Amino acid sequence: MGYSAWEIQLVINFSLCVYCLTSGVVMTIDHVIPRSKLTVPHGLANAVVACEPCNKAKAAVMPSKWCDAAQLARVREFVACDGNPTKLRSLDLKFRNQKAQTNL
Ligand SMILES: [Zn+2]
Repeated sequence: MGYSAWEIQLVINFSLCVYCLTSGVVMTIDHVIPRSKLTVPHGLANAVVACEPCNKAKAAVMPSKWCDAAQLARVREFVACDGNPTKLRSLDLKFRNQKAQTNL
């Protein structure tokens, strides 16, 4: 899909979809603010790991219009990792535990 090295690092260090918490499927990089609405270059502040169905469903919709509160909170936590592998792996674990507890 033509991802850059820093985007590939996100997928290597984080294995869940931030939107639906699914894992074990091919992950993509979602532009939180859609490409068409971005006023600054796409970077770590605008990229999250998402499954293909969520990425396609969200498409060019703004996160505030597509995400529920829990999803928005996860997006913020993901972006706050700033691509740091240790932080991403620890957030991955946190979300896995949340998923297990809510039995999604
Ligand atoms: Zn998803």
